[in-house]
Amino acid sequence: MGPEAKRLRPQSPCSAADFTLPPFSPSSPLGQEFVVPKSGFYCQLCSVFYLNEISAKKLHCSSQRHYDSLQKHYQKLQQKPSSAPTTDPPKL
Ligand SMILES: [Zn+2]
Repeated sequence: MGPEAKRLRPQSPCSAADFTLPPFSPSSPLGQEFVVPKSGFYCQLCSVFYLNEISAKKLHCSSQRHYDSLQKHYQKLQQKPSSAPTTDPPKL
């Protein structure tokens, strides 16, 4: 339908074809890298994870570390070259 239905899939650097799955064993967990935090709060700027919303939003977001990260983030945004190819609609 939409033009965004197609997504470019970047090829993974490491080939999964070489990986052989060991036989199942209840005492050896596998594929832990596929477990992602879904029920927590992750600050992408500071790369920190909180289980508790109050800790994340109140304590962390009022910390000096987070503030510095925010500052860097916005500095980066402002340094973006205007000629970069974007999919943004043209502004009038
Ligand atoms: Zn943060």
